[in-house]
Amino acid sequence: MSRFLNDRFSSLKPYTPGEQPKSTQKLIKLNTNENPYEPAPGVMKVISDAELRKLKLYSEPDASLLTEAIAGFYGLKNEQVIAGNGSDEILAFIFMAFQGRGGRVLYPEISYSFYPVYCDIFGAEGVKVPLGEDFSVRPEDYYDADGTIVITNPNAPTGMALSRRQIEDILRHNRDSLVVIDEAYVDFGAESAVGLIETYDNLLVVQTLSKSRSLAGARVGFAMGSSELIADLNRIKFSFNPYNLDRLAILAGAEAMKDREHFEKTRRRIMETREAFVTEMEKMGFKVLPSKANFVFASSDRISGEEYFSQLRKYNIIVRHFKGEKTGNYVRITIGTPEEMKALTEATGEILSGLADGSRR
Ligand code: PMP
Repeated sequence: MSRFLNDRFSSLKPYTPGEQPKSTQKLIKLNTNENPYEPAPGVMKVISDAELRKLKLYSEPDASLLTEAIAGFYGLKNEQVIAGNGSDEILAFIFMAFQGRGGRVLYPEISYSFYPVYCDIFGAEGVKVPLGEDFSVRPEDYYDADGTIVITNPNAPTGMALSRRQIEDILRHNRDSLVVIDEAYVDFGAESAVGLIETYDNLLVVQTLSKSRSLAGARVGFAMGSSELIADLNRIKFSFNPYNLDRLAILAGAEAMKDREHFEKTRRRIMETREAFVTEMEKMGFKVLPSKANFVFASSDRISGEEYFSQLRKYNIIVRHFKGEKTGNYVRITIGTPEEMKALTEATGEILSGLADGSRR
């Protein structure tokens, strides 16, 4: 730390991203919930030489080509959508702009680990709301919240989802608090809250093109809500980074949003792979939380989460392990191709059969 750093940030604990190895040639990478399939074919076509030459020019600050494609997909008006450099940036704008009464932000105790970091950097008080015994988010715990509510749906790293009716229940009990639903993984089987935007002016829905549209490397996320909320977020964006999306990301994002067929095909494939994979893991005695995401959270009585994680690494398979009393026995496994999941289940079978009784936890 240099002597120039503002004191406010001296105790800041940055977010730790999942490992991004330099070469993935020999690796089965199931640690950061990327999509195993390529982006929509139109994405590759639209990044032409001519477009690359145009990189000498700034991108369009409104990214309207992209926001119009998103608005078209969801039947919203363009002014109800704002795009960002990944949904991480959109979330940063939200935490900067809205911190509820007394600067409080409530979120589930086990959830996306970036929320406490945003609280820290933007000076909000993060309030961790406990989960049920079974890792469920309980709507009644958020009634009359004194602050902004941020809920990942489906939740991460559990994959468990609230229904639209349960989200509406939270909205109805918080007419004067902003409710942010982070739907990074919603396209893998959960219900989106987008349809509630017209009824609830306290709702912001955040989504990303990183997961269900195979564009993690392009960094495209967005928020949808009332035109007033979106105008507030634009106020922040234009005070921070007006050209937040580069020209190529805007083009790629718009193409990906327009190709419904590719989107449907790839997300269905991932959901089918997930169901088959869960069955295999359960056959081997794993407990797998009910997932509506492109990952599962799994544990076994026979091997600790940490040990399983390290053993898989020896097979060149990377998954994610989160230390902690409630999460430490689990690993989070991204759903890849059927071949990748087969390699993982085979490795798991070998790991389990190689266990001496003494290494059981
Ligand atoms: N929200 C959640 C719950 C996530 O897991 C992620 C991915 N790490 C994000 C938001 C951010 O995704 P991106 O910035 O790639 O849009």
